[in-house]
Parts: sequence; C-alpha cells; structure tokens
Amino acid sequence: MKPTPRQYIELTQLGPYPSTPLVAYECGMCGDVVPSAPAESAACRCGNIIVDATSSCVTLGELAAVKAFRTQR
Ligand SMILES: [Zn+2]
Repeated sequence: MKPTPRQYIELTQLGPYPSTPLVAYECGMCGDVVPSAPAESAACRCGNIIVDATSSCVTLGELAAVKAFRTQR
C-alpha cells in the first residue's frame, strides 16, 4: 500500500492558525508532527510549534519552517 501523500495547507503570517482535528503541523527544524487540536497541550521537540489545548491557541516560531497538512480527506 502506498502512503497517502500529505496535503499541505498554505500558512500566512496573519493567522489565526487552524486548530482542528483535521490539521496537523510539521516542524521542519526538528521533524516532529504536532496535532493542531490535541487533547493535551503539545509542542515539538525544538519548541517551534506550541499548541495550547485549553485555548486552542497555536503559536509558531519560525513560520517558514512550519508546514500544516490535512490529516484526513
Ligand atoms: Zn520543532
């Protein structure tokens, strides 16, 4: 079986960044993938992507190093 290619979403400087079970963030600096709507607050290893579960607030450091993609069709 071939893995489904990731459908990347364009992020803008303006935000707000999506926080939904359908979207996850991929950090280009440490390679971690962080769900955009986790049950508990989550962050990637290098701290470039931080998602606060309580406020659904997504904080991105180096936007150019972050990709968002759809987790489902
Ligand atoms: Zn990272």
